[in-house]
Amino acid sequence: MTDRKTELAANLANVEQRITAACAAAGREREEVTLIVVTKTYPASDVRILSELGVRHVAENRDQDAAPKAAACADLPLKWHFVGQLQTNKVRSVVGYADFVQSVDRDRLVTALSKEAGRAGREVGCFIQVALDAGESARGERGGVAPGGIEELAGLVAGAPGLRLDGLMTVAPLTGEYAGREQAAFERLMDLSTDLRRAHPAATMVSAGMSADLEQAVAAGATHVRVGTAVLGVRPRLG
Ligand SMILES: *Cc1c(COP(=O)(O)O)cnc(C)c1O
Repeated sequence: MTDRKTELAANLANVEQRITAACAAAGREREEVTLIVVTKTYPASDVRILSELGVRHVAENRDQDAAPKAAACADLPLKWHFVGQLQTNKVRSVVGYADFVQSVDRDRLVTALSKEAGRAGREVGCFIQVALDAGESARGERGGVAPGGIEELAGLVAGAPGLRLDGLMTVAPLTGEYAGREQAAFERLMDLSTDLRRAHPAATMVSAGMSADLEQAVAAGATHVRVGTAVLGVRPRLG
C-alpha cells in the first residue's frame, strides 16, 4: 500500500470503530448509520483510494471543486452528496453528478433542482437543511431553513418532478440556544424528522454529525454522519 492509502485506511478504521461504539452505546445496529466521507479540498486520488477501501458515499461542498473530481471518479461505485450552500446558477452542474443534495433550503432552489433533474433525466435525493440557530422563519447564516419553514419546503420537494424527499440535514450551530450542545441540537433535528415523517413517511434520513460530534449524532438517532477531517486529515485550506 502507498503511504497515503495506509494513512487513510488507519483513519477510516478509527472512524469505523467510533461509529460502531456509538451504535453499541445507543443500542443501534451499525447498519442503521451510513458513513459519508467529506472529501472537499482533497484530490480525486484520495477519493479513488477511499473507494478501494470500501467507502461508498462521499460529499463535497463547492461545485467548482466537486465537478472535476466527480468526473475523474465517474468509474467508481460512489454516491455523491452535495452538502454546501448552493446557488441556483450551479444547479445544472451539480445535478450532473450529485445523487443527493443535502442543502435544500429555499423554494427557488427546489424549482431549479427539479428543472435540471428533469432535463438530465435524473432523480436527485433531497435533504432539507435545517438551521437550528435561525429565528423561527428566517434562514441560517450558513444556509438552512428555520424549523418553521420545513413543512412548506418539504411539500414543494415532494411534489417536484425529478426530486425525492429523503429527510433532514443539519450542522451543529455555533450560536444561539444550541451552541455547544450538539446532542440537544441533534435530538431537536430528530423531533423535526418525526414531525416530517407524519406527512412524508419515506423521508427517513437524518444527516447530522461530523468528525467532532458523530457520537452525539448517532446517540440522537442520525442515519447519516458526514466525516471529513477524521478520515482525510486537517484540511489545507478553509472549505
Ligand atoms: C466539511 C463538512 C463536514 C465535515 O466536517 P469535518 O469536521 O471535517 O468532519 C460535514 N458537513 C458539512 C456540511 C461540511 O461542510
